[in-house]
Amino acid sequence: MSNQEFENLTDEILAEIIQEENQKEIEKQEIIKNGCPHVNKTERVGTISKVHFLECDICKKQFDMMGNPIK
Ligand SMILES: [Zn+2]
Repeated sequence: MSNQEFENLTDEILAEIIQEENQKEIEKQEIIKNGCPHVNKTERVGTISKVHFLECDICKKQFDMMGNPIK
Protein backbone atom coordinates (compact mmCIF):
# COMPACT_ATOMS: atom_id res chain seq x y z
CA MET A 1 0.00 0.00 0.00
CA SER A 2 1.41 3.42 -0.94
CA ASN A 3 1.54 6.26 1.51
CA GLN A 4 -1.19 8.06 -0.39
CA GLU A 5 -3.47 5.05 -0.20
CA PHE A 6 -2.77 4.72 3.49
CA GLU A 7 -3.59 8.38 4.10
CA ASN A 8 -6.86 8.06 2.23
CA LEU A 9 -7.75 5.02 4.29
CA THR A 10 -6.93 6.85 7.51
CA ASP A 11 -9.08 9.79 6.45
CA GLU A 12 -11.94 7.44 5.70
CA ILE A 13 -11.64 5.76 9.09
CA LEU A 14 -11.39 9.13 10.81
CA ALA A 15 -14.46 10.40 9.00
CA GLU A 16 -16.31 7.26 10.06
CA ILE A 17 -15.27 7.68 13.68
CA ILE A 18 -16.30 11.33 13.67
CA GLN A 19 -19.64 10.44 12.12
CA GLU A 20 -20.19 7.77 14.77
CA GLU A 21 -19.31 10.23 17.52
CA ASN A 22 -21.71 12.79 16.08
CA GLN A 23 -24.43 10.18 15.90
CA LYS A 24 -23.85 9.24 19.55
CA GLU A 25 -23.91 12.92 20.51
CA ILE A 26 -27.21 13.42 18.67
CA GLU A 27 -28.69 10.37 20.41
CA LYS A 28 -27.48 11.71 23.75
CA GLN A 29 -29.05 15.10 23.16
CA GLU A 30 -32.26 13.35 22.17
CA ILE A 31 -32.28 11.32 25.42
CA ILE A 32 -31.59 14.43 27.51
CA LYS A 33 -34.35 16.34 25.71
CA ASN A 34 -36.83 13.54 26.40
CA GLY A 35 -35.82 13.31 30.05
CA CYS A 36 -32.68 11.36 30.89
CA PRO A 37 -33.42 8.24 32.98
CA HIS A 38 -29.85 8.36 34.41
CA VAL A 39 -29.45 4.63 33.92
CA ASN A 40 -25.67 4.46 33.87
CA LYS A 41 -23.79 6.44 36.47
CA THR A 42 -20.06 6.51 37.02
CA GLU A 43 -18.55 6.95 40.45
CA ARG A 44 -16.26 9.95 40.68
CA VAL A 45 -14.25 11.67 43.38
CA GLY A 46 -14.21 15.44 43.82
CA THR A 47 -10.80 16.87 42.99
CA ILE A 48 -10.79 19.19 45.99
CA SER A 49 -13.41 17.84 48.38
CA LYS A 50 -12.47 14.15 47.73
CA VAL A 51 -16.16 13.43 48.14
CA HIS A 52 -17.42 10.45 46.18
CA PHE A 53 -20.35 11.12 43.91
CA LEU A 54 -22.08 9.64 40.90
CA GLU A 55 -22.22 11.25 37.48
CA CYS A 56 -24.74 10.28 34.83
CA ASP A 57 -22.91 8.99 31.76
CA ILE A 58 -25.34 10.70 29.46
CA CYS A 59 -26.38 14.08 30.86
CA LYS A 60 -23.48 14.49 33.35
CA LYS A 61 -25.88 15.29 36.16
CA GLN A 62 -24.36 14.59 39.55
CA PHE A 63 -25.80 12.49 42.36
CA ASP A 64 -24.68 11.64 45.85
CA MET A 65 -23.87 8.04 46.70
CA MET A 66 -27.48 7.50 47.74
CA GLY A 67 -28.60 8.47 44.24
CA ASN A 68 -30.03 11.85 45.20
CA PRO A 69 -29.38 14.68 42.75
CA ILE A 70 -26.74 17.22 43.74
CA LYS A 71 -27.42 20.80 42.76
ZN1 LIG B 1 -28.82 11.50 33.10
